[in-house]
Amino acid sequence: MTRRVALIGRPLRRRHSEVMHNAAFDHFGIDARYELRDVSLEQVPGFVDEARGADWLGFQVTTPHKRIVMELLDQIEHDAGQIGAVNTVLRREDGSLAGHNTDAEGFRRAVENELELGLSDLSVCVGGAGGAARAGVHALVVAGAGDITVGNRTWERARALAEDFGPSVRGAGFGAAFDEALTEADLAVNATTVGMIEPGVAFDVGSLPPTAAVFDLVYDPSESELLRRARARGLRVANGLGMLVSQAEIAFERWTGVADAGPVMRAALESL
Ligand code: NAP
Repeated sequence: MTRRVALIGRPLRRRHSEVMHNAAFDHFGIDARYELRDVSLEQVPGFVDEARGADWLGFQVTTPHKRIVMELLDQIEHDAGQIGAVNTVLRREDGSLAGHNTDAEGFRRAVENELELGLSDLSVCVGGAGGAARAGVHALVVAGAGDITVGNRTWERARALAEDFGPSVRGAGFGAAFDEALTEADLAVNATTVGMIEPGVAFDVGSLPPTAAVFDLVYDPSESELLRRARARGLRVANGLGMLVSQAEIAFERWTGVADAGPVMRAALESL
């Protein structure tokens, strides 16, 4: 029986996950396929029921279903519960479904490997307050980052995020308080959709100190306008591709027990 996994979301604009996982299934000789399923909010419960079937290994979830899917699962891993978003679901032998969040660990690995920066004792500015920002902030708080300022277009969402994560996190709009925090940041993170879906930049990297690094979760285009400006200033930069591969590698291991699929996945993305 060919086992199945899928990515659910709407709209599904990119094939990166399908390409990465299918390359890894082929490479490790695992009889399974990863498919893209563009489903509406109303279709999510029906899909979740389908994924309890014996032919499924699990599935992944992207915008806008990362929160709603949590209500339909049998168990939520502790970290995913704290983040408030599930991006990976594992089907157990008995058909029950467990929700995980592999974005937080993917974020940590990418920042450490690509920017050679440990997360502890950092001063960090995070742009965005959606699911990806919450995963990044969770990784930073768990690692003991010193202080974290979250800026968001809808500032109430940044404030709510800060309240959820405790005293080391401050919430703000993209205004004076965020700009001032940027002047002392070791790391600035873009976790908004700006640069990927909308053109432009969510915040200005001009006020970062020359020693700062910039991590943009955007991976398509490979160099966003934010990274282009940061690179022009001579700052260290990384795009979201490393995080994308890391979160996929962790999900793949959960489903198959096979670790270290990352290099195969990254090579497959070069063919895109
Ligand atoms: P989300 O939950 O929909 O959140 C979107 C965020 O972007 C919100 O903070 C939203 O602000 C902000 N935003 C949207 N349009 C904006 C605009 N015109 N100006 C300023 N801010 C704007 O999405 P998500 O799941 O967190 O994903 C965020 C981004 O990260 C996406 O581009 C996604 O592809 C990327 N991502 C990458 C990886 C990776 O592995 N590299 C993993 C996960 C996500 P409001 O609250 O004001 O609407």
